[in-house]
Amino acid sequence: MKQSELRAIPAVEKVLQALGDTGVPRPIVLEMVRRELAELRKRKSVPAFDAVLASMRDSLRDLSASRIRPLINGTGILIHTNFGRAPLGPDVIGAMSSIGSNYSNLEYGLIGGTRGGRAAYLEQSLAVLCAAEAATVVNNNAAALVLILRHFCQAGTEVSQRRGRNGAHRTPPPKNEVIISRGELIQIGGGFRIPDILESSGAKLHEVGTTNKTSLRDYARAIGPETALILKVHRSNFFMGGFVESAPAEEIAELARKKRVPFVEDLGSGAMVETETIAGLEHEPTPSEVIRRGVDLVCFSGDKLLGGPQAGVIAGKAKLIAALKSDPFFRALRCDKLILSALEATADIYMRGQQGIPVLEMVHAPIDQLRLRGERIRSALNGLPIKASVGEGKAQIGGGTLPRSVIASVTLDLVHNTIKAQEIAARLRDHAVPVIGYVARGSVKLDLRTIFPRQDAELIAAIRVVCR
Ligand SMILES: *Cc1c(COP(=O)(O)O)cnc(C)c1O
Repeated sequence: MKQSELRAIPAVEKVLQALGDTGVPRPIVLEMVRRELAELRKRKSVPAFDAVLASMRDSLRDLSASRIRPLINGTGILIHTNFGRAPLGPDVIGAMSSIGSNYSNLEYGLIGGTRGGRAAYLEQSLAVLCAAEAATVVNNNAAALVLILRHFCQAGTEVSQRRGRNGAHRTPPPKNEVIISRGELIQIGGGFRIPDILESSGAKLHEVGTTNKTSLRDYARAIGPETALILKVHRSNFFMGGFVESAPAEEIAELARKKRVPFVEDLGSGAMVETETIAGLEHEPTPSEVIRRGVDLVCFSGDKLLGGPQAGVIAGKAKLIAALKSDPFFRALRCDKLILSALEATADIYMRGQQGIPVLEMVHAPIDQLRLRGERIRSALNGLPIKASVGEGKAQIGGGTLPRSVIASVTLDLVHNTIKAQEIAARLRDHAVPVIGYVARGSVKLDLRTIFPRQDAELIAAIRVVCR
């Protein structure tokens, strides 16, 4: 018989003691140890105690690393979906902190001392910012889209039966078709596909046009008694060039009005500023621009170009917003007080024309200022076995927004005398405050546009530890 077959399963207590302080709460460690030992029991042979411990330490390390914590974003991608999209500024955090740590008038009318409406001030602010009759907000833009689709698409059974001319019962067709251009059946991020969202909301897809061309006539021909709405989806994360045509929104809007069909646009990023005034950026349609074109409802994310908390803003016709808000499903998607206060503070910043949207401050940071920071960081790295230099970078908006736009940026480039760039990058990721950069032509590059100036000292400390 082999040694391994003779070994006994170690006792839970013995393993716990040997693991020592793992930095992970004891109940989690205990559960994991029990589970891994149970797995061992199923096997024919038991590995050596040290191997068992090592495997448990690996599992704990993986688990620990998945705990949410701040990191330094040196990728140059401003709205990084993997990194929590838009970071929030001090005023917004201040609002969340004071509302979160106190009771508030969330649903209380201070004037009359009675139950009050939720988010009335915020909804008014968003309507003003979008130049819309009304606005409301749900958990994210995907939720906004689902709410709109579910509300306007009625299954056949929900429509009351009407009597036909000959007296027989006749069920009218279900009003559940959503007309959408084949050029807009897009996938946003991991697992977010417009056709899937449509179907899961009970809508029937009615594709019109072709991938590259959809005309007004295509929309006109598709409208029938089963049409629930016309949906336009902003191609936010890719672009089409060449032999391309899409019907102008103004014309679709006119057609929709004539046929009494709601016209909805999923805008995606919700830019409130004229992006084309920023060097390197193209024009990104703003919600007010879309409303002006005659769209009945527009929806967009709170944490993309708006630069606020994760939320889904819906703006447009007062009657339609009111109808959405009275849909029972709205209750399942509504935001909590922290998000509402954060969005309220974000909207305030825009209306007062103040600073305080970090994503916009990063976009606007002058290149000379970035270069100066780069030089300062570089000179603070003296004495390390590395070659550090200040290079040129290309920052991007990210978050599925403005994919063609590139913002000139500055990178800190690190080449270690003996250790490969990939290994340095891995060590930076594994640092107490993780630093994420990218590797290009043998050096680790850290884009300074997405690193807050207040993080420079932390960055220097991380590089010092990793590159010793
Ligand atoms: C990002 C995006 C969404 C999804 O928004 P979330 O806020 O992430 O739910 C939907 N549609 C478009 C066009 C987008 O760009």
